[in-house]
Amino acid sequence: MQTDYRQYFFPDYRSCRQAFRDTLASADHNLPTDMIITPGQLSVDTDRDLTIDTALLTGRNPSHNLMLISGGLHGAEGFAGSALQLCFVREVLPAIFRNQHSLHCDILLLHGLNPYGFMHMRRVDAFNVDLNRNFLMNAEQFENQNKGYAAIQELLNPARPVQAHDLDPAGLADHLEELGRRFQQRELTEAIVRGQYAFPEGIYFGGQQFAAQRSLLEPFLTDIFGRYERILAIDIHTGYGRRDHLHFFPDVESADVRELIRRLFAGHHIDWADDEGFYRVTGEFVNYMHALCAPEQIYIPMIFEFGTLDSHLPAGGLASVHNMILENQGHHYGYATDDVRRETLRRFREMFYPSDPGWKKAVIEQGRTVLAQLPERLAAL
Ligand SMILES: [Zn+2]
Repeated sequence: MQTDYRQYFFPDYRSCRQAFRDTLASADHNLPTDMIITPGQLSVDTDRDLTIDTALLTGRNPSHNLMLISGGLHGAEGFAGSALQLCFVREVLPAIFRNQHSLHCDILLLHGLNPYGFMHMRRVDAFNVDLNRNFLMNAEQFENQNKGYAAIQELLNPARPVQAHDLDPAGLADHLEELGRRFQQRELTEAIVRGQYAFPEGIYFGGQQFAAQRSLLEPFLTDIFGRYERILAIDIHTGYGRRDHLHFFPDVESADVRELIRRLFAGHHIDWADDEGFYRVTGEFVNYMHALCAPEQIYIPMIFEFGTLDSHLPAGGLASVHNMILENQGHHYGYATDDVRRETLRRFREMFYPSDPGWKKAVIEQGRTVLAQLPERLAAL
């Protein structure tokens, strides 16, 4: 029997985290007695009690396969990831054991990878860093230039308080339309969202050094990954794509890994990052984790994106950039009035965590379906 999707959603970081901890603490009531659950916490900032909560679920017999499910790398996007992790432990796992008596893989959950952003409803961390642009392969890449971004950074990052008239996207639309005559759409999209390392107060800022998450996670993940032959890593995001729709959005060049992804996600449409209408970014977390594996290990990265704004359409794409700009501008330079502040933050929250029950239901229904398929498919690759 499927449970009510509403039980998986909470209004803030602390209640999501508490639900995660409570769920793991009581998970053995619903799981076979030989399942070993190892919860943990990595403190990002001990003074403010910001933690990445972890849980490793292993069978008594060693498995060759690991499925990692992470969320909250973009703080404000953490609610859907948290909800799906709860649903996976409370509902999907017990169902798998009822039907198949065996899980075929071990599970690693990473909850709230950016707890600061999750707590403060920002996408970025305490230093305005977009963590999914920060996991570069080496520190020299912080010197990377994003020339397209630099050329339009004043449009993207107005250095003044947000005014009431800024809430109308028409002005931004005019500028972007003008740019659209000079640049191809893909060029323009990638200039904005690919990541930039030169404007610390700008949107999509990837930092100028590695964030704390890297030194916390690297030894932890390296130790765990070393025990497996195959690793599937799913990082859960929200805000991009068709509303109420779960996009599978991997950025993979290897033809062999693409083939494994097609088999794992058979029956589902895949939006490859180099497809028309999509985009590539630098410093992505799921691609970075590949570097923690030995050459003989098979590593499969995947991003889940739950769409909220129809950002693949012109109006939604505009609203998406507009919301990002206003929230960032307000954070750094303030708001002309309380009403402007409230409206900006309302739009931002709706973009990453819609209040609409239909969206939450879609997250659980679509996420639950695919997560239930993956353990057996991973073992059968
Ligand atoms: Zn995201």
